[in-house]
Amino acid sequence: MKILKHLFDNNREWARRIEREQPGFFETLSKQQNPKYLWIGCADSRVPANEIINLPPGEVFVHRNIANVVVHTDLNCLSVIQYAVEILSVKHIIVCGHYGCGGIRSAMETSSHGLIDNWLRHIRDVYRFHREQLDAIQDPREQRDKLCELNVVEQVQNVCNTTVVRNAWASGQQLAVHGWIYRLEDGLLRDLGITATGNG
Ligand code: ZN
Repeated sequence: MKILKHLFDNNREWARRIEREQPGFFETLSKQQNPKYLWIGCADSRVPANEIINLPPGEVFVHRNIANVVVHTDLNCLSVIQYAVEILSVKHIIVCGHYGCGGIRSAMETSSHGLIDNWLRHIRDVYRFHREQLDAIQDPREQRDKLCELNVVEQVQNVCNTTVVRNAWASGQQLAVHGWIYRLEDGLLRDLGITATGNG
């Protein structure tokens, strides 16, 4: 018996459906990808990039990690950004956080979570940068939501400060970096209005 058979069944059904709707879809897509967007989002299973923005395979280049963090020395994330900007020439980088993020919640707790605490330290830093604003919020949920937003703002800054994005802007490449947030409860995205285009 095939291991995880239902997933292979799902896959065959999915491939058949797409091929039925758009004959030659996979054959065409296999020759090249030409996405306009790089999505940097949370690894949370409830925030799947393509589904949320309703785009088929080939339309969005994706990097996901816990709490959508862009660390200056993370070769994985930086390589994704470099490939997306320099090879694929994406026009938009979208950093998308979400309310109710477990990574953000864990970063706000004092208890230990093991190895992951090293990763969550980056979010604790974001808290530290905005301590005054966050400590002034009484409601714990509201406070967590605000940190989710501030984390997106911070990560957009980090994307803008990468050598890849700075070089792209210096050479006149058209590239915008956006900060969005997603709400699990209604499935809707919101633009945080912090789009950076390199024009100051
Ligand atoms: Zn999350």
